[in-house]
Amino acid sequence: MLLEGACHCRAVRFSVHSSEPYPYMYCYCSICRKTAGGGGYAINLSADAGSLEVHGEEHLSIYQVKIGDAEPSPAKRHFCSRCGSALWVWDSRWPELLHPFASAIDTPLPKAPERCHIMLDFVAAWVPLPEGEGEPHFGEYPDQSIHDWHHSRGLVQED
Ligand SMILES: [Zn+2]
Ligand SMILES: [Zn+2]
Repeated sequence: MLLEGACHCRAVRFSVHSSEPYPYMYCYCSICRKTAGGGGYAINLSADAGSLEVHGEEHLSIYQVKIGDAEPSPAKRHFCSRCGSALWVWDSRWPELLHPFASAIDTPLPKAPERCHIMLDFVAAWVPLPEGEGEPHFGEYPDQSIHDWHHSRGLVQED
């Protein structure tokens, strides 16, 4: 399906195609929490980077995490330089993928039948964590990629 998104001030608008658009992956890492997740997490989607179209590209800024003297992370976090909205992550290690934040998408997304809570080794102590069936927990990365999660549940959107 075609996902249309924008930052809050709408200086940056974008569209991208995704066949795996369920917002089920909640990331509690400190980067998502600080840059995109007021509730303690950000919801990461997966889309086809080759289909990305951007209006207002001149208003985009990119944040690459740098820890100590290490090289900056290849994950490029795109955000609006005017209003600060987090928009998407693109990583040169997986160039065909684009990871929009669900918060930036205006197209109604399908409601996920379960949620995956990831990077819980880094969760802030104040964040409430749903427990039980349909709420699997992972210390770091989950056991399935976003692609595999959709395929194994028959949730791939073909159009
Ligand atoms: Zn903006
Ligand atoms: Zn994260």
